[in-house]
Amino acid sequence: MEKVQPKKGLGQHFLKDKDIAEKISATLSGQGYSSVLEIGPGMGILTGFLLDRDFPDFKVIEIDKESVHYMKSHFPNLDKIIEGDFLKLDLDSCFEGRMAITGNFPYNISTQIFFRVLQHRDKVVEVTGMLQKEVAERICAPPGSKTYGILSVLLQAYYTTEYLFTVGGEVFVPPPKVKSGVIRLIRNDVDHLECNEKLFTSVVKSCFNQRRKTLRNSVRAAFELTSDSYPDFGLRPEQLSVEKFVRLTNWIEQNMVRSK
Ligand code: SAH
Repeated sequence: MEKVQPKKGLGQHFLKDKDIAEKISATLSGQGYSSVLEIGPGMGILTGFLLDRDFPDFKVIEIDKESVHYMKSHFPNLDKIIEGDFLKLDLDSCFEGRMAITGNFPYNISTQIFFRVLQHRDKVVEVTGMLQKEVAERICAPPGSKTYGILSVLLQAYYTTEYLFTVGGEVFVPPPKVKSGVIRLIRNDVDHLECNEKLFTSVVKSCFNQRRKTLRNSVRAAFELTSDSYPDFGLRPEQLSVEKFVRLTNWIEQNMVRSK
């Protein structure tokens, strides 16, 4: 069968370097789960190496019909090819117990993939994979760094994140405009944050949506408060660790009339 022609709009950048594919497949620890889902196998360069790892339950999900067809004819021993959109997949009904997610992700939806991981954080105990370097760095950035943002705080609240290595554009067809980064996230032992978790998310989002403002200004713009004195109010959001956001959330909850 002919190769799949890359389509715009589906984030299709096929990896052509087998050594890198093998290196990415080796980023899964294999510990704490028996199910693995690969998002966007394309023409299966990673899939071949993932199959070699013999996970008890291994599935792939691919949105592009042409790729699905290609995968079916080239990987006859892979019987679990889900045709569809990962963002709409019901993970609970597809996978029993704990699972890992991996892939050379479609970059156009990489942020949404990670927000979905967050929604299923008690099921998805590990994520490894490749995405655009900028987002990879953001996910792993420590407080105080320029790229630290919403995804860093929300993911680092529940996962240990690690930036593994950088990949240049020349190993893809077609080459993406940006460099790529490979990362690993492992679920930490935090069941629940010690605050109202819904409010935590909205506090983190309101603060970073106005990144250059001090916390005082962003918090006051988002919530009606009975007090104006909080020790960290002079700081900017990128200076706050997860713990400090938890503390801020608790303070807001105690001093809030309502959210605006
Ligand atoms: N893993 C392959 C392909 C990476 S390109 C390789 O390394 O060569 C990203 C792949 O994700 C493409 O095959 C694309 O069709 C697929 N894809 C894009 N959006 C998707 C979605 N929402 N759900 C599942 N797969 C998707």
